[in-house]
Amino acid sequence: MTPLAPGSTIGILGGGQLGRMLAMAAARLGFDCHIYTPEADSCAARVSARQTVAAFEDERALAAFAKSVHAITYEFENVPAATAAVLEASGAPVSPGAKSLAVAQDRVVEKAFFASIGVATAPFARVDSRGDLDDALKRIGAPSILKTRRLGYDGKGQARIASAGDADNAYAAIAAAPAILEGMVKFEREISVIAARGQDRAFAAFDVCENEHNGGILSLTRAPARVNAPVTESAVAATRTLMDALDHVGVLAVEFFLLPDGALLANEFAPRVHNSGHWTEDACLTSQFEQHIRAIAGWPLGPTTRFADAEMHNLIGDDVGLWAHYASDPKAHLHLYGKGEARAGRKMGHVTRLTPRN
Ligand code: AMP
Repeated sequence: MTPLAPGSTIGILGGGQLGRMLAMAAARLGFDCHIYTPEADSCAARVSARQTVAAFEDERALAAFAKSVHAITYEFENVPAATAAVLEASGAPVSPGAKSLAVAQDRVVEKAFFASIGVATAPFARVDSRGDLDDALKRIGAPSILKTRRLGYDGKGQARIASAGDADNAYAAIAAAPAILEGMVKFEREISVIAARGQDRAFAAFDVCENEHNGGILSLTRAPARVNAPVTESAVAATRTLMDALDHVGVLAVEFFLLPDGALLANEFAPRVHNSGHWTEDACLTSQFEQHIRAIAGWPLGPTTRFADAEMHNLIGDDVGLWAHYASDPKAHLHLYGKGEARAGRKMGHVTRLTPRN
């Protein structure tokens, strides 16, 4: 594909903060964005040239949307497969492609895919019934963690199992949905790799970062991660293998558990920009958002050079009430998503603090 010219319109499925930051990065490169979201007054639409508010199943609205844009991408991975198929059939290039979406949407398929490309994960078993859970517990043991195969995020749709006696409660907690049982990993830290792959198959990773979660929600990202060079190299190599195997175009994030012996287990990947990559906007020559727009527009990838150490804190729920405090802190780069109601657990903004590198 010839590179998309400035002045073209990029369609983004989803109206959340990732769509908002993608749209702002796209605007800086001279593109207009058209947001497609079921949500009225989305925070992405408020910074974009156009919006369509319609259900993902609305084929007429999807067709009209596809006609109005020159390239299509998405800001979340749970776009229904049928929606992606309608858009692909419309002729507008959709990236990342259907394979990245399909693998990321189902935790069993995702773990099996990691295994098929030689990337280690926690032991896992598919759970389609209460009986399967007993069998899986016999094989994997406890402690373990039961997760719905689809639509889980920020620790939702998960139940921990300390011993086999917890099985009934855990199965009820995930509402008997199709699930995966994973062995509980005693990790030393969680790290992630944010990388991009271009239409020309070029690959560029940002420096590996480390993450702390609170109640299943990302709380803090530190870049660079405090890990040695072999760990960095194997995390980046696994990410590259994954992106090549998916023939992925765009940004993708892989979360890993680092074990005390230095081994890495892949936990999951997101076929999109990721919360643990927000620091790149303040600390790197190219942000993850610009990088994604460059990749899907067929532009060359930008340099991922990091010029400062960074710490990114999420502002979740009421945390956003401290905006005036952060605004008066000369070291804090404040990002607010323009969301109305600060519900518990809702990501409202983030703050990045930089320590320049010598
Ligand atoms: P996930 O939705 O899979 O990213 O899980 C959310 C968080 O739960 C992870 O970032 C970990 O902190 C924790 N977690 C998930 N799976 C496991 C596991 N197999 N072993 C230990 N901790 C886990």
